[in-house]
Amino acid sequence: MKVRTRFAPSPTGFMHLGGLRTALYAFIFARKHGGNFILRIEDTDRARYVEGATEVIYETLRECGLNWDEGSDKGGGYAPYIQSERMKDGLYMKYALELIEKYEAYYCYCLPEAETCDCKNSKIRKPDIPFVIRQRIPCGGTTAFKDEVYGEIKVDNSEIEDQILIKSDGMPTYNFANVIDDHTMNITHVIRGNEFLSSTPKHVLLYKAFGWEPPVYIHAAPIMRDASHKLSKRDGDAYFSDFKAKGYLTRAIVNYIALLGWSPKGENEIFSLEELSSEFDISGISKSPAIFDEVKMRAINAHYIRTLPLEEFKLLAMPYICASAPESEPPAIDYDILCAALQPRTEVLTDITPQVDFIFEVRDYQADLYNNKKMKTSPETAFSALKDSLKIINTDGFSRDEIYDAFKALSEKNGVKIGYYLYPLQVALTGKPAAPGGGLDICVMLGKDESLRRIEKAIVKLS
Ligand code: GLU
Repeated sequence: MKVRTRFAPSPTGFMHLGGLRTALYAFIFARKHGGNFILRIEDTDRARYVEGATEVIYETLRECGLNWDEGSDKGGGYAPYIQSERMKDGLYMKYALELIEKYEAYYCYCLPEAETCDCKNSKIRKPDIPFVIRQRIPCGGTTAFKDEVYGEIKVDNSEIEDQILIKSDGMPTYNFANVIDDHTMNITHVIRGNEFLSSTPKHVLLYKAFGWEPPVYIHAAPIMRDASHKLSKRDGDAYFSDFKAKGYLTRAIVNYIALLGWSPKGENEIFSLEELSSEFDISGISKSPAIFDEVKMRAINAHYIRTLPLEEFKLLAMPYICASAPESEPPAIDYDILCAALQPRTEVLTDITPQVDFIFEVRDYQADLYNNKKMKTSPETAFSALKDSLKIINTDGFSRDEIYDAFKALSEKNGVKIGYYLYPLQVALTGKPAAPGGGLDICVMLGKDESLRRIEKAIVKLS
């Protein structure tokens, strides 16, 4: 039987990391088994509907590469299944009526606050009286099912109320539409968060009532901030978009959330979506909550950033470089040199902006910044070193090698480290004790004229 999984979000807000992880597991499980992954929007609860939430779901899934395999082809990808649209053909009502016929459900005319209800035996549709349709839950006995993560689960039927299938407004309830859709879409494996574990007996009872085979259930534990707190909107760590705003790469987010609740077999923790699609195994899904660890997520992100081709890093970095620009035009400097120096110094893209403000201007700094024990420099030594630097940099060639050779020769001649010249140069060019690239790179990056201008200014400051 061909594996068919689905992601069935309710459009009630932005894409929570837990929801994205559910989608990811459903996607990679389907891929691993050569099956299909389906997106179904469960929007029958209009009270909880949030405008724009479906678009966020589509965009996030597409951005993460979790493309769904079915739906009507609208060009540029499939339109997903949407419950409110499926409802228009009377799909859910048809199945509810089938259960009434089978004596598995009944019309209920009781007010919501009624304590007892005498509708249980009614198969009759009374005209002009509002009604709901309820499932008739067996009086005694138990309902059992097996979850692939949590094992055998058994509940007494006496604990389950006669659940509403169709509400008084004619809309199906979540539980009912969810089961009808999973069955009619031939879903073989239901993968979702364990907050749905407690409604699963109700689902299983519906399958029984219809005489259908339930799917395989795989419930994953929640992602927590710590032992007692969920990831929350307030802490800015709940949504996919929060992490994009913090400068995480999509592929790193996908990689990290795969590990939140699933352990790969070996030591390796770096997985592309393709690799996850072959490595993923439900036996690695954990029963206990996954604790979100931003330090680890940063380390994974840093790995992805380090391994990007320079050109790709540059494309990603430019908006962050320009973010601190006082004017709209970024200065004409060598961005390849800047990006090559930034890349190993970047864990998340937002690390970039505060490191590069010097390309626009040198902020005022204290002269004691020139004190550096290791390089044996001070404001006094810097004053003369910068005068030498002016001469060295003011050459016709102005190539990195040429400047380097000149500094090297000079430092050898004077019996000092090359840093004796390059550290003051860096301070003069950036106004900072540490900068991406060091004095030489920054000099070449800024170009001859700008470098000379900054050095002259620094000399004035020191004199
Ligand atoms: N619509 C449910 C939700 O909001 C999904 C339940 C399921 O996956 O079965 O998450």
